[in-house]
Amino acid sequence: MEHPENSDAYKGLTVNKGIEQPSIVNPYLKLRKKPKRRQFSVGEYVEGIVKGDVTVLSQAVTLVESVKPEHQTIAQEVIEKCLPYSGNSVRIGISGVPGAGKSTSIDVFGLHVLEKKGGKLAVLAIDPSSERSKGSILGDKTRMEKLSVHPKSFIRPSPSAGSLGGVARKTRETIILCEAAGFDKIFVETVGVGQSETAVHSMVDFFLLIQLAGTGDELQGIKRGIMEMADGIIINKADGNNIEKAKLAAAHFRNALHLFPAPESGWTPQVLTYSGFYGIGIEEIWDMVFRYIDFVKANGYFEHRRNEQSKYWMYETINEHLRNSFYNNPDIASMLLEKEREVLEGRTTSFTAARKLLDTYFKHLPSWE
Ligand code: GDP
Repeated sequence: MEHPENSDAYKGLTVNKGIEQPSIVNPYLKLRKKPKRRQFSVGEYVEGIVKGDVTVLSQAVTLVESVKPEHQTIAQEVIEKCLPYSGNSVRIGISGVPGAGKSTSIDVFGLHVLEKKGGKLAVLAIDPSSERSKGSILGDKTRMEKLSVHPKSFIRPSPSAGSLGGVARKTRETIILCEAAGFDKIFVETVGVGQSETAVHSMVDFFLLIQLAGTGDELQGIKRGIMEMADGIIINKADGNNIEKAKLAAAHFRNALHLFPAPESGWTPQVLTYSGFYGIGIEEIWDMVFRYIDFVKANGYFEHRRNEQSKYWMYETINEHLRNSFYNNPDIASMLLEKEREVLEGRTTSFTAARKLLDTYFKHLPSWE
């Protein structure tokens, strides 16, 4: 029987066709997806940096750290254009073994310097351990509680890719960007384990070495070269019943420093004790640092050291590129292990093997990208 609803004469309740059921996948989701960040042009990067825009600065630093050639090309242009705005800062290297109190100290030092001198502070790091662990133990924002939320500070962890030389170069380039963005105080932190100090020393105006009072023979563990680089040695944790020990350690360091030849700067490195945790002796440390800066600016050494550093970085960059170009060359890569084996088995000498590899490289010299 026909359903009465189908008759035109039917006046009762009818069931509407209803609306189409929505798909289980939200079709608007695509639209809501975060748009891909637009890549700035070189001009936009430079403009943003010079205006002091920290977001643009961060993105530019990410480019500097990137291993992609297209990012490197832009980064190099941005650095070049920022160069005229850079250089107007005080750069301070801070080194110490893990546990020496670097994070605690930098937090306190940073606040002190900002309060006393005004301006803006960037904290960068060179951490060779990050190369292997892919995680940086330095420069982590959370380690510097107060500074990380300070409106005048910019904290950036260590770049992680590449050799120590590569990591250090990136940090040096980041210094240029930070200075162009108006950061007139730069801290470069590193772990006191050897080579990384040399890298930091080659980009700062003052090198501060944090030490701890130990068993009385604290000088043993420190490499002579590192002590020679220091413009100031500061003994941390001079608090509680550690005060006397810290004073004793300071005396040992002072004596040891006398044995070194007088530094080129004409400045006698100072040794001070302090407590980062309790904020004791901070003022004296920064009086010393700024006294040094005045001293070397007056005698011309400040300028001289910066020029020497620029020269050093030109050669470092050349060396790094040559090394990478050599070891990344496919012919070399395939020969290297074989040559190494020949040397180890006494079938050839180190020199002949090296010569053959170099000959191969220069014969198939890749064209410059
Ligand atoms: P870093 O590894 O060099 O960054 O060292 P940290 O700043 O993380 O400090 C290592 C440990 O030493 C932490 O437990 C700090 O609380 C402690 N510490 C840092 N500065 C002082 C200080 O001035 N006095 C004392 N007693 N302890 C400190």
